[in-house]
Amino acid sequence: MSEMNKAMIEQYRNSFLSEVEANVEEGEWVKMCMQCGVCSGSCPLGKHWAHPPQEIFMMIRAGKRDEVLASDSMWMCTSCYNCVVRCPRQLPITHIMHGLATYAKKLGLVPQNQPTAKFAEIFWNNMMKKGRVNELKLGLSLYFKDGF
Ligand code: SF4
Ligand code: SF4
Repeated sequence: MSEMNKAMIEQYRNSFLSEVEANVEEGEWVKMCMQCGVCSGSCPLGKHWAHPPQEIFMMIRAGKRDEVLASDSMWMCTSCYNCVVRCPRQLPITHIMHGLATYAKKLGLVPQNQPTAKFAEIFWNNMMKKGRVNELKLGLSLYFKDGF
């Protein structure tokens, strides 16, 4: 690729897209999305989310940093991989969604009382203690997640 082409591409790469590419798992794939909408149409839960995957990728490319990182949509991904097997560009969508959630958590931008994020944290802590899930403790932790 010529230097001039590289410079032209950089011109259209906003700083948030570069940030995602540098910090989010598989984030370098976001620029490959062609906005066909197959992922959002295939996602069993996407229609209930504020921002299904196609929209999240479009928002990243539009530089909407605050809206993306505060969105609760990434936290609702169930890792069913429907989107991944159908994406014509073979984007690792599931990984990007979880990568965005992890990055938002690292920056402390997850909305307070976001229930799916809370569940993810409780589940992770439970599993990391002994290397497997203790279902009794998981149930109790979830039941009392807001205190007695
Ligand atoms: S299916 Fe793939 S190419 Fe199409 S909108 Fe989703 S991520 Fe983009
Ligand atoms: S892996 Fe996540 S984003 Fe993809 S279809 Fe399943 S729930 Fe939707």
